[in-house]
Amino acid sequence: MIQVDIPGKRKKLEIEHLVLDFNGTLALDGKILPGVAENLRRLAKAVKVHIVTAGTFGGVEEQVAGIPCILKVLSGPAQTRQKAGYVKTLGSGKTACVGNGRNDRDMLRQAALGILVVQEEGAAAESLMAADVVCRDIASALGLLLNPLRLKATLRS
Ligand SMILES: [Mg+2]
Repeated sequence: MIQVDIPGKRKKLEIEHLVLDFNGTLALDGKILPGVAENLRRLAKAVKVHIVTAGTFGGVEEQVAGIPCILKVLSGPAQTRQKAGYVKTLGSGKTACVGNGRNDRDMLRQAALGILVVQEEGAAAESLMAADVVCRDIASALGLLLNPLRLKATLRS
């Protein structure tokens, strides 16, 4: 578990699950970004890591081999709702999410902590409004979770 006590927030943040979008978040053009696997291996010691994707570029299984995670490949319509539903099933109050796309909007809003990443693919403005924190890239997003004092500094009132 990752615990952060944020001044001005009613409840202490207690994160047990980390749900991440794949394309545009962990990967660019279907290829996992440098440093992601190592950071996720470190985070997997504290939280359960879940990667949720529509698998737009294919080959996701190969890309995440070596990362201790649960891979959830979505199919069919209403993926915004499917992603949010996945987070709800885990328990929104103990889940952090990282995403960039429009279909990440509802999971970002619903999670105890929603982190939006912009990086190369850009981020959906609707999802930006639904997030708690906006990061320039995945390294800084995962860095917040690996160094929770950074999160405290950003979110305190
Ligand atoms: Mg995406």
